[in-house]
Amino acid sequence: MVERLKNFINGRWVDSRSDRTFISLNPAYKSETVAVAPDSTMTDVDEAVKAARAAFPVWSHIPAPRRGEILFKLAELLTRRKTALGKLVTREMGKVLPEALGDVQEAIDMAYYMAGEGRRLSGESVPSELPNKDAKSVRVPIGVFGCITPWNFPTAIPAWKLFPALIAGNTVVLKPAEETPACATKMIELLEEAGIPSGVVNLVHGFGKTGEALVKHPGIDGISFTGSAATGRRVEALAAATHKTFSTETGGKNVIIVMADADLDLAVDGAIWGAFGTSGQRCTAASRIVVQAPAYDWFVARLTKAAGRLRLGDGLKSSTQMGPIVSKAQYERVLEYIAVGKREGATLLRGGRPCTQGECKQGWFIEPTIFTDVKPGMRIAREEIFGPVVCLFKVETVDEAIALANDTVYGLSAAIYTKDVNASARAERDLDTGLIYINASTIGAEIQLPFGGTKATGSGPREAGGRGGALDLYTKWKVIYRDFSGALQRAQIDKE
Ligand code: ADP
Repeated sequence: MVERLKNFINGRWVDSRSDRTFISLNPAYKSETVAVAPDSTMTDVDEAVKAARAAFPVWSHIPAPRRGEILFKLAELLTRRKTALGKLVTREMGKVLPEALGDVQEAIDMAYYMAGEGRRLSGESVPSELPNKDAKSVRVPIGVFGCITPWNFPTAIPAWKLFPALIAGNTVVLKPAEETPACATKMIELLEEAGIPSGVVNLVHGFGKTGEALVKHPGIDGISFTGSAATGRRVEALAAATHKTFSTETGGKNVIIVMADADLDLAVDGAIWGAFGTSGQRCTAASRIVVQAPAYDWFVARLTKAAGRLRLGDGLKSSTQMGPIVSKAQYERVLEYIAVGKREGATLLRGGRPCTQGECKQGWFIEPTIFTDVKPGMRIAREEIFGPVVCLFKVETVDEAIALANDTVYGLSAAIYTKDVNASARAERDLDTGLIYINASTIGAEIQLPFGGTKATGSGPREAGGRGGALDLYTKWKVIYRDFSGALQRAQIDKE
Protein backbone atom coordinates (compact mmCIF):
# COMPACT_ATOMS: atom_id res chain seq x y z
CA MET A 1 0.00 0.00 0.00
CA VAL A 2 1.42 3.39 -1.03
CA GLU A 3 0.84 6.22 1.48
CA ARG A 4 -0.10 9.58 -0.12
CA LEU A 5 1.39 12.14 2.21
CA LYS A 6 0.68 15.82 2.69
CA ASN A 7 2.21 18.72 4.55
CA PHE A 8 0.55 19.76 7.82
CA ILE A 9 0.23 23.53 8.06
CA ASN A 10 -1.91 25.42 10.54
CA GLY A 11 -3.86 22.29 11.48
CA ARG A 12 -4.67 21.29 7.90
CA TRP A 13 -3.28 18.55 5.65
CA VAL A 14 -2.28 20.26 2.41
CA ASP A 15 -0.33 19.60 -0.78
CA SER A 16 2.75 21.60 -1.69
CA ARG A 17 2.11 24.74 -3.73
CA SER A 18 4.53 23.25 -6.25
CA ASP A 19 2.50 20.09 -6.96
CA ARG A 20 5.87 18.32 -7.17
CA THR A 21 6.27 15.05 -5.26
CA PHE A 22 8.95 12.52 -4.38
CA ILE A 23 8.82 8.91 -3.23
CA SER A 24 10.25 6.87 -0.38
CA LEU A 25 11.19 3.26 -1.08
CA ASN A 26 11.46 0.08 0.94
CA PRO A 27 15.23 -0.54 0.98
CA ALA A 28 14.70 -4.29 1.32
CA TYR A 29 12.57 -4.36 -1.88
CA LYS A 30 13.71 -1.33 -3.78
CA SER A 31 10.91 -1.56 -6.34
CA GLU A 32 8.33 -1.10 -3.55
CA THR A 33 7.18 2.48 -3.05
CA VAL A 34 6.22 3.17 0.55
CA ALA A 35 5.02 6.75 0.22
CA VAL A 36 4.59 9.71 -2.12
CA ALA A 37 5.32 13.03 -0.42
CA PRO A 38 5.11 16.69 -1.41
CA ASP A 39 8.36 18.38 -2.42
CA SER A 40 7.86 21.65 -0.60
CA THR A 41 8.83 25.11 -1.78
CA MET A 42 9.84 28.34 -0.04
CA THR A 43 6.17 29.34 -0.09
CA ASP A 44 5.16 26.20 1.81
CA VAL A 45 7.93 26.82 4.35
CA ASP A 46 6.83 30.43 4.68
CA GLU A 47 3.22 29.45 5.32
CA ALA A 48 4.29 26.89 7.93
CA VAL A 49 6.52 29.44 9.71
CA LYS A 50 3.72 32.02 9.69
CA ALA A 51 1.30 29.49 11.20
CA ALA A 52 3.82 28.60 13.91
CA ARG A 53 4.42 32.29 14.69
CA ALA A 54 0.71 32.96 14.96
CA ALA A 55 0.24 29.99 17.31
CA PHE A 56 3.16 30.90 19.59
CA PRO A 57 1.49 33.51 21.86
CA VAL A 58 -1.41 31.17 22.69
CA TRP A 59 0.63 27.96 23.08
CA SER A 60 3.37 29.55 25.15
CA HIS A 61 0.76 30.91 27.60
CA ILE A 62 -0.90 27.55 28.19
CA PRO A 63 0.42 26.27 31.55
CA ALA A 64 3.22 23.77 30.95
CA PRO A 65 1.46 20.96 32.90
CA ARG A 66 -1.52 21.34 30.52
CA ARG A 67 0.83 21.18 27.53
CA GLY A 68 2.21 18.04 29.18
CA GLU A 69 -1.24 16.44 29.17
CA ILE A 70 -1.16 16.42 25.36
CA LEU A 71 2.20 14.65 25.46
CA PHE A 72 0.86 12.09 27.96
CA LYS A 73 -2.01 11.39 25.60
CA LEU A 74 0.42 11.15 22.71
CA ALA A 75 2.52 8.63 24.66
CA GLU A 76 -0.57 6.48 25.10
CA LEU A 77 -1.48 6.73 21.41
CA LEU A 78 2.08 5.85 20.41
CA THR A 79 1.98 2.85 22.76
CA ARG A 80 -1.26 1.64 21.21
CA ARG A 81 0.09 2.04 17.65
CA LYS A 82 3.61 0.85 18.44
CA THR A 83 3.50 -2.33 16.37
CA ALA A 84 2.01 -0.69 13.29
CA LEU A 85 4.43 2.21 13.52
CA GLY A 86 7.38 -0.12 14.10
CA LYS A 87 6.48 -2.07 10.96
CA LEU A 88 6.32 1.17 8.98
CA VAL A 89 9.79 2.12 10.29
CA THR A 90 11.13 -1.21 9.03
CA ARG A 91 9.42 -0.83 5.64
CA GLU A 92 10.56 2.72 5.06
CA MET A 93 14.02 2.69 6.64
CA GLY A 94 15.01 -0.98 6.74
CA LYS A 95 16.08 -1.62 10.34
CA VAL A 96 14.97 -4.96 11.78
CA LEU A 97 11.62 -4.96 13.57
CA PRO A 98 12.91 -5.27 17.17
CA GLU A 99 15.08 -2.20 16.54
CA ALA A 100 12.20 -0.41 14.81
CA LEU A 101 10.00 -1.07 17.84
CA GLY A 102 12.86 0.29 19.97
CA ASP A 103 12.84 3.42 17.81
CA VAL A 104 9.14 3.92 18.58
CA GLN A 105 9.70 3.06 22.25
CA GLU A 106 12.24 5.87 22.43
CA ALA A 107 9.55 8.25 21.18
CA ILE A 108 7.13 6.90 23.81
CA ASP A 109 9.72 7.30 26.57
CA MET A 110 10.50 10.83 25.43
CA ALA A 111 6.80 11.74 25.39
CA TYR A 112 6.31 10.55 28.99
CA TYR A 113 9.55 12.14 30.14
CA MET A 114 8.89 15.54 28.60
CA ALA A 115 5.23 15.46 29.69
CA GLY A 116 6.56 15.13 33.25
CA GLU A 117 8.96 18.03 32.69
CA GLY A 118 5.86 20.19 32.27
CA ARG A 119 5.53 20.06 36.05
CA ARG A 120 9.15 21.05 36.60
CA LEU A 121 10.76 23.40 34.04
CA SER A 122 12.30 24.89 37.12
CA GLY A 123 14.47 27.94 37.45
CA GLU A 124 16.03 29.29 40.59
CA SER A 125 14.86 31.55 43.36
CA VAL A 126 17.70 33.09 45.35
CA PRO A 127 17.84 35.60 48.22
CA SER A 128 18.38 39.19 47.17
CA GLU A 129 21.16 41.15 48.86
CA LEU A 130 18.63 43.90 49.56
CA PRO A 131 15.63 43.82 51.90
CA ASN A 132 12.10 43.55 50.54
CA LYS A 133 13.26 42.38 47.16
CA ASP A 134 13.16 38.97 45.51
CA ALA A 135 15.26 37.50 42.75
CA LYS A 136 14.54 34.55 40.50
CA SER A 137 15.31 33.04 37.12
CA VAL A 138 12.65 31.45 34.93
CA ARG A 139 12.83 29.41 31.75
CA VAL A 140 10.92 30.89 28.83
CA PRO A 141 10.45 29.43 25.35
CA ILE A 142 12.62 30.60 22.47
CA GLY A 143 9.81 31.01 19.92
CA VAL A 144 9.48 29.11 16.64
CA PHE A 145 11.82 26.16 16.13
CA GLY A 146 12.81 24.59 12.83
CA CYS A 147 13.58 20.91 13.39
CA ILE A 148 15.47 19.03 10.69
CA THR A 149 15.81 15.29 11.10
CA PRO A 150 17.66 12.37 9.47
CA TRP A 151 16.35 8.98 8.39
CA ASN A 152 18.13 6.60 10.78
CA PHE A 153 15.76 7.07 13.74
CA PRO A 154 12.64 8.14 11.86
CA THR A 155 10.36 8.35 14.90
CA ALA A 156 12.82 8.74 17.79
CA ILE A 157 14.72 11.77 16.48
CA PRO A 158 11.61 13.79 15.59
CA ALA A 159 10.39 12.93 19.12
CA TRP A 160 13.71 14.06 20.64
CA LYS A 161 13.22 17.44 19.02
CA LEU A 162 9.47 18.04 19.04
CA PHE A 163 8.56 16.98 22.57
CA PRO A 164 11.02 19.12 24.55
CA ALA A 165 10.38 22.04 22.18
CA LEU A 166 6.64 21.75 22.78
CA ILE A 167 6.72 21.26 26.54
CA ALA A 168 8.86 24.37 26.83
CA GLY A 169 6.20 26.37 24.96
CA ASN A 170 7.78 26.69 21.52
CA THR A 171 5.96 26.10 18.28
CA VAL A 172 7.58 24.01 15.58
CA VAL A 173 8.09 23.40 11.89
CA LEU A 174 9.45 19.90 11.21
CA LYS A 175 11.34 19.05 8.00
CA PRO A 176 11.92 15.29 8.18
CA ALA A 177 14.37 13.28 6.08
CA GLU A 178 13.33 12.73 2.50
CA GLU A 179 14.00 8.98 2.94
CA THR A 180 11.42 8.57 5.73
CA PRO A 181 8.48 10.97 5.22
CA ALA A 182 5.79 8.42 6.11
CA CYS A 183 7.18 7.77 9.61
CA ALA A 184 7.30 11.50 10.38
CA THR A 185 3.77 11.94 9.06
CA LYS A 186 2.44 9.28 11.45
CA MET A 187 3.99 11.10 14.38
CA ILE A 188 2.27 14.34 13.38
CA GLU A 189 -1.05 12.53 12.83
CA LEU A 190 -0.84 11.21 16.38
CA LEU A 191 -0.01 14.67 17.74
CA GLU A 192 -3.13 15.95 15.98
CA GLU A 193 -5.16 13.11 17.49
CA ALA A 194 -3.72 13.93 20.92
CA GLY A 195 -5.18 17.44 20.58
CA ILE A 196 -2.27 19.69 19.62
CA PRO A 197 -3.80 23.08 18.68
CA SER A 198 -3.62 24.29 15.06
CA GLY A 199 -0.33 25.88 14.05
CA VAL A 200 1.64 24.61 17.05
CA VAL A 201 3.23 21.80 15.04
CA ASN A 202 3.71 22.06 11.28
CA LEU A 203 5.22 19.57 8.86
CA VAL A 204 6.87 20.35 5.54
CA HIS A 205 8.31 17.52 3.48
CA GLY A 206 11.16 17.95 1.05
CA PHE A 207 14.88 17.78 0.43
CA GLY A 208 17.85 19.82 1.60
CA LYS A 209 16.65 23.00 -0.07
CA THR A 210 13.44 22.86 1.98
CA GLY A 211 15.51 22.40 5.13
CA GLU A 212 17.77 25.26 4.14
CA ALA A 213 14.77 27.54 3.52
CA LEU A 214 13.77 26.84 7.10
CA VAL A 215 17.26 27.58 8.44
CA LYS A 216 17.39 30.89 6.57
CA HIS A 217 13.83 31.99 7.34
CA PRO A 218 13.74 35.18 9.43
CA GLY A 219 10.61 33.95 11.22
CA ILE A 220 12.50 31.04 12.77
CA ASP A 221 14.11 31.63 16.18
CA GLY A 222 15.88 28.30 16.71
CA ILE A 223 17.19 25.37 14.71
CA SER A 224 17.66 21.82 15.88
CA PHE A 225 19.50 19.72 13.30
CA THR A 226 20.66 16.11 13.15
CA GLY A 227 22.40 14.85 10.02
CA SER A 228 25.71 14.70 8.23
CA ALA A 229 28.74 16.69 9.35
CA ALA A 230 28.97 18.69 6.12
CA THR A 231 25.33 19.79 6.25
CA GLY A 232 25.65 20.47 9.97
CA ARG A 233 28.51 22.92 9.35
CA ARG A 234 26.42 24.73 6.75
CA VAL A 235 23.39 24.87 9.04
CA GLU A 236 25.54 26.27 11.87
CA ALA A 237 26.92 29.03 9.65
CA LEU A 238 23.51 29.99 8.27
CA ALA A 239 21.85 29.90 11.69
CA ALA A 240 24.61 32.00 13.26
CA ALA A 241 24.40 34.54 10.44
CA THR A 242 20.73 35.14 11.23
CA HIS A 243 21.20 35.10 15.06
CA LYS A 244 19.29 31.90 15.65
CA THR A 245 19.70 29.64 18.62
CA PHE A 246 20.91 26.28 17.31
CA SER A 247 22.00 22.79 18.14
CA THR A 248 23.59 20.41 15.66
CA GLU A 249 24.28 16.71 16.15
CA THR A 250 26.36 15.31 13.32
CA GLY A 251 29.16 12.81 12.85
CA GLY A 252 30.93 10.23 14.91
CA LYS A 253 33.90 7.88 14.59
CA ASN A 254 33.11 5.85 17.63
CA VAL A 255 35.45 3.39 19.22
CA ILE A 256 35.37 0.23 21.33
CA ILE A 257 38.51 -0.50 23.35
CA VAL A 258 38.97 -4.14 24.31
CA MET A 259 41.56 -4.79 27.01
CA ALA A 260 43.08 -8.27 27.27
CA ASP A 261 41.63 -8.80 30.75
CA ALA A 262 38.05 -8.17 29.60
CA ASP A 263 35.22 -10.66 29.35
CA LEU A 264 36.11 -11.21 25.69
CA ASP A 265 32.90 -13.03 24.73
CA LEU A 266 30.95 -10.06 26.04
CA ALA A 267 33.24 -7.71 24.10
CA VAL A 268 32.60 -9.67 20.87
CA ASP A 269 28.84 -9.41 21.44
CA GLY A 270 29.20 -5.67 22.09
CA ALA A 271 31.33 -5.20 18.97
CA ILE A 272 28.83 -7.04 16.75
CA TRP A 273 25.95 -4.99 18.15
CA GLY A 274 27.89 -1.72 17.96
CA ALA A 275 29.29 -2.22 14.47
CA PHE A 276 26.45 -4.00 12.68
CA GLY A 277 23.29 -3.05 14.61
CA THR A 278 21.07 -0.92 12.32
CA SER A 279 23.57 -1.99 9.61
CA GLY A 280 26.05 0.46 11.14
CA GLN A 281 23.72 3.38 10.38
CA ARG A 282 23.72 4.97 13.83
CA CYS A 283 25.63 8.08 14.80
CA THR A 284 26.96 6.05 17.74
CA ALA A 285 27.88 2.96 15.67
CA ALA A 286 31.27 1.45 16.53
CA SER A 287 33.42 1.93 13.47
CA ARG A 288 36.80 1.42 15.18
CA ILE A 289 37.75 -1.41 17.51
CA VAL A 290 41.02 -1.16 19.39
CA VAL A 291 42.22 -4.43 20.92
CA GLN A 292 45.08 -4.98 23.35
CA ALA A 293 47.77 -7.18 21.80
CA PRO A 294 47.45 -10.41 23.85
CA ALA A 295 43.74 -10.68 22.97
CA TYR A 296 44.00 -9.41 19.39
CA ASP A 297 44.23 -12.64 17.34
CA TRP A 298 41.55 -14.40 19.39
CA PHE A 299 39.25 -11.38 19.21
CA VAL A 300 39.65 -10.88 15.46
CA ALA A 301 38.93 -14.56 14.78
CA ARG A 302 35.81 -14.57 16.98
CA LEU A 303 34.50 -11.28 15.64
CA THR A 304 34.96 -12.44 12.04
CA LYS A 305 33.12 -15.68 12.76
CA ALA A 306 30.26 -13.91 14.53
CA ALA A 307 29.93 -11.36 11.70
CA GLY A 308 29.78 -14.20 9.20
CA ARG A 309 26.84 -15.74 11.05
CA LEU A 310 24.64 -12.62 10.86
CA ARG A 311 21.54 -13.29 8.78
CA LEU A 312 20.75 -10.46 6.34
CA GLY A 313 17.30 -9.82 4.90
CA ASP A 314 13.96 -8.14 5.22
CA GLY A 315 13.77 -6.64 8.70
CA LEU A 316 10.13 -7.70 9.05
CA LYS A 317 11.15 -11.38 9.09
CA SER A 318 11.88 -12.67 12.58
CA SER A 319 14.95 -14.59 11.35
CA THR A 320 16.67 -11.42 10.08
CA GLN A 321 19.46 -9.93 12.18
CA MET A 322 20.73 -7.20 9.85
CA GLY A 323 18.65 -5.18 7.41
CA PRO A 324 19.54 -3.26 4.25
CA ILE A 325 21.22 0.10 3.70
CA VAL A 326 18.62 2.86 3.63
CA SER A 327 19.02 4.13 0.05
CA LYS A 328 20.88 3.71 -3.21
CA ALA A 329 22.97 6.82 -2.50
CA GLN A 330 23.98 5.56 0.93
CA TYR A 331 24.65 2.06 -0.45
CA GLU A 332 26.98 3.46 -3.11
CA ARG A 333 28.69 5.67 -0.55
CA VAL A 334 29.45 2.71 1.76
CA LEU A 335 30.75 0.59 -1.16
CA GLU A 336 32.96 3.50 -2.21
CA TYR A 337 34.45 3.67 1.30
CA ILE A 338 35.17 -0.06 1.14
CA ALA A 339 36.97 0.51 -2.19
CA VAL A 340 38.90 3.39 -0.61
CA GLY A 341 39.97 1.14 2.29
CA LYS A 342 41.31 -1.47 -0.14
CA ARG A 343 43.10 1.16 -2.20
CA GLU A 344 44.66 2.61 0.93
CA GLY A 345 46.19 -0.78 1.71
CA ALA A 346 44.04 -2.02 4.60
CA THR A 347 43.33 -5.76 4.65
CA LEU A 348 39.73 -6.67 3.93
CA LEU A 349 39.27 -9.58 6.31
CA ARG A 350 35.65 -10.32 5.53
CA GLY A 351 32.65 -8.91 3.68
CA GLY A 352 33.16 -5.83 1.57
CA ARG A 353 30.67 -6.82 -1.11
CA PRO A 354 27.03 -6.21 -1.84
CA CYS A 355 24.90 -9.11 -0.65
CA THR A 356 22.81 -10.25 -3.60
CA GLN A 357 21.93 -13.78 -2.54
CA GLY A 358 18.48 -15.11 -1.66
CA GLU A 359 16.15 -12.56 -0.15
CA CYS A 360 18.82 -9.86 -0.35
CA LYS A 361 18.72 -9.69 -4.14
CA GLN A 362 15.91 -7.15 -4.22
CA GLY A 363 17.39 -4.64 -1.81
CA TRP A 364 20.45 -2.59 -0.93
CA PHE A 365 22.39 -5.01 1.24
CA ILE A 366 26.08 -4.94 2.11
CA GLU A 367 27.88 -7.74 3.94
CA PRO A 368 29.21 -7.03 7.44
CA THR A 369 32.71 -5.81 6.64
CA ILE A 370 35.91 -5.99 8.70
CA PHE A 371 39.21 -4.30 7.89
CA THR A 372 42.52 -5.01 9.64
CA ASP A 373 45.98 -3.48 9.13
CA VAL A 374 44.31 -0.10 9.25
CA LYS A 375 46.63 2.89 9.75
CA PRO A 376 45.27 5.80 11.81
CA GLY A 377 45.77 8.20 8.87
CA MET A 378 43.63 6.23 6.42
CA ARG A 379 40.31 7.72 5.38
CA ILE A 380 38.40 4.63 6.60
CA ALA A 381 39.93 5.24 10.04
CA ARG A 382 39.01 8.93 10.08
CA GLU A 383 35.78 9.53 8.17
CA GLU A 384 32.29 8.50 9.18
CA ILE A 385 31.16 5.67 6.89
CA PHE A 386 27.65 5.09 8.30
CA GLY A 387 27.45 1.49 7.19
CA PRO A 388 28.38 -2.04 8.35
CA VAL A 389 32.13 -1.45 8.16
CA VAL A 390 34.53 -1.71 11.07
CA CYS A 391 38.30 -1.13 11.36
CA LEU A 392 40.46 -3.08 13.80
CA PHE A 393 43.61 -1.80 15.52
CA LYS A 394 46.15 -3.50 17.80
CA VAL A 395 47.66 -1.64 20.78
CA GLU A 396 49.87 -2.49 23.76
CA THR A 397 48.56 -0.28 26.57
CA VAL A 398 45.43 1.50 27.74
CA ASP A 399 47.16 4.85 27.20
CA GLU A 400 47.86 3.94 23.58
CA ALA A 401 44.24 2.83 23.17
CA ILE A 402 42.88 6.09 24.59
CA ALA A 403 45.22 8.19 22.42
CA LEU A 404 44.09 6.30 19.32
CA ALA A 405 40.44 6.63 20.35
CA ASN A 406 40.81 10.40 20.72
CA ASP A 407 42.68 10.75 17.43
CA THR A 408 39.60 11.89 15.50
CA VAL A 409 37.83 15.14 14.79
CA TYR A 410 34.67 13.63 16.29
CA GLY A 411 33.76 12.89 19.88
CA LEU A 412 30.40 11.19 20.22
CA SER A 413 30.65 7.74 21.82
CA ALA A 414 33.38 5.47 23.17
CA ALA A 415 33.38 2.17 25.04
CA ILE A 416 35.91 0.15 26.99
CA TYR A 417 35.72 -3.51 27.95
CA THR A 418 37.91 -4.31 30.94
CA LYS A 419 37.79 -5.74 34.45
CA ASP A 420 40.61 -3.47 35.58
CA VAL A 421 39.16 -0.64 37.65
CA ASN A 422 42.18 1.55 36.95
CA ALA A 423 41.91 1.14 33.17
CA SER A 424 38.19 1.90 33.29
CA ALA A 425 38.78 5.01 35.42
CA ARG A 426 41.46 6.23 33.01
CA ALA A 427 39.12 5.73 30.08
CA GLU A 428 36.29 7.50 31.88
CA ARG A 429 38.51 10.49 32.58
CA ASP A 430 40.52 10.73 29.37
CA LEU A 431 38.23 9.71 26.50
CA ASP A 432 37.08 12.94 24.89
CA THR A 433 33.54 11.97 23.92
CA GLY A 434 30.07 12.97 25.01
CA LEU A 435 29.11 9.38 25.83
CA ILE A 436 31.27 6.72 27.49
CA TYR A 437 30.27 3.11 28.06
CA ILE A 438 32.06 0.73 30.40
CA ASN A 439 31.58 -2.94 29.58
CA ALA A 440 28.81 -2.03 27.15
CA SER A 441 28.78 -1.14 23.46
CA THR A 442 28.89 2.37 21.96
CA ILE A 443 25.14 2.39 21.31
CA GLY A 444 22.22 2.45 23.70
CA ALA A 445 21.92 5.97 25.11
CA GLU A 446 18.96 6.49 27.42
CA ILE A 447 16.71 9.50 26.93
CA GLN A 448 16.86 10.87 30.46
CA LEU A 449 20.47 12.01 30.08
CA PRO A 450 21.93 14.48 27.58
CA PHE A 451 22.96 13.04 24.22
CA GLY A 452 25.66 14.56 22.04
CA GLY A 453 29.36 14.88 21.58
CA THR A 454 32.49 16.96 21.59
CA LYS A 455 34.61 18.53 18.83
CA ALA A 456 33.13 18.25 15.32
CA THR A 457 30.26 16.05 16.51
CA GLY A 458 28.08 19.05 17.08
CA SER A 459 27.48 22.46 18.56
CA GLY A 460 25.07 23.97 20.99
CA PRO A 461 23.16 22.38 23.86
CA ARG A 462 22.77 18.61 23.89
CA GLU A 463 19.61 16.76 22.97
CA ALA A 464 17.51 14.59 25.30
CA GLY A 465 17.94 14.78 29.07
CA GLY A 466 16.29 17.61 30.94
CA ARG A 467 18.32 20.32 32.61
CA GLY A 468 21.79 20.31 31.04
CA GLY A 469 20.23 18.84 27.89
CA ALA A 470 17.22 19.55 25.73
CA LEU A 471 15.61 22.09 28.05
CA ASP A 472 18.71 24.23 27.72
CA LEU A 473 18.20 24.27 23.97
CA TYR A 474 14.49 24.94 23.92
CA THR A 475 14.36 27.61 26.64
CA LYS A 476 16.19 30.81 27.43
CA TRP A 477 16.67 32.31 30.83
CA LYS A 478 14.84 35.37 32.09
CA VAL A 479 15.97 36.86 35.40
CA ILE A 480 13.41 38.81 37.40
CA TYR A 481 14.07 41.16 40.34
CA ARG A 482 11.03 42.47 42.22
CA ASP A 483 11.53 45.29 44.65
CA PHE A 484 8.62 45.70 47.07
CA SER A 485 10.41 48.10 49.48
CA GLY A 486 8.80 51.17 47.98
CA ALA A 487 12.19 52.92 48.07
CA LEU A 488 15.06 53.32 45.64
CA GLN A 489 17.43 50.48 46.56
CA ARG A 490 20.73 50.27 44.73
CA ALA A 491 22.47 46.90 44.36
CA GLN A 492 26.27 46.83 44.57
CA ILE A 493 26.44 50.49 45.65
CA ASP A 494 28.11 51.14 49.01
CA LYS A 495 25.96 52.95 51.55
CA GLU A 496 27.35 56.31 52.65
P1 ADP B 1 22.27 12.25 5.38
O1 ADP B 1 23.46 12.23 4.51
O2 ADP B 1 22.36 11.39 6.57
O3 ADP B 1 20.97 12.15 4.67
P2 ADP B 1 21.96 15.12 5.51
O4 ADP B 1 22.71 16.05 6.38
O5 ADP B 1 22.08 15.25 4.04
O6 ADP B 1 22.33 13.70 6.05
O7 ADP B 1 20.41 15.19 5.85
C1 ADP B 1 19.87 15.31 7.13
C2 ADP B 1 18.66 16.22 7.07
O8 ADP B 1 19.10 17.51 6.68
C3 ADP B 1 17.63 15.81 6.04
O9 ADP B 1 16.34 16.12 6.51
C4 ADP B 1 17.98 16.68 4.84
O10 ADP B 1 16.92 16.90 3.94
C5 ADP B 1 18.38 17.95 5.54
N1 ADP B 1 19.28 18.83 4.75
C6 ADP B 1 20.13 18.50 3.74
N2 ADP B 1 20.79 19.60 3.30
C7 ADP B 1 20.35 20.64 4.04
C8 ADP B 1 20.67 22.04 4.08
N3 ADP B 1 21.56 22.58 3.25
N4 ADP B 1 20.03 22.81 4.99
C9 ADP B 1 19.15 22.28 5.86
N5 ADP B 1 18.80 20.97 5.86
C10 ADP B 1 19.39 20.16 4.98
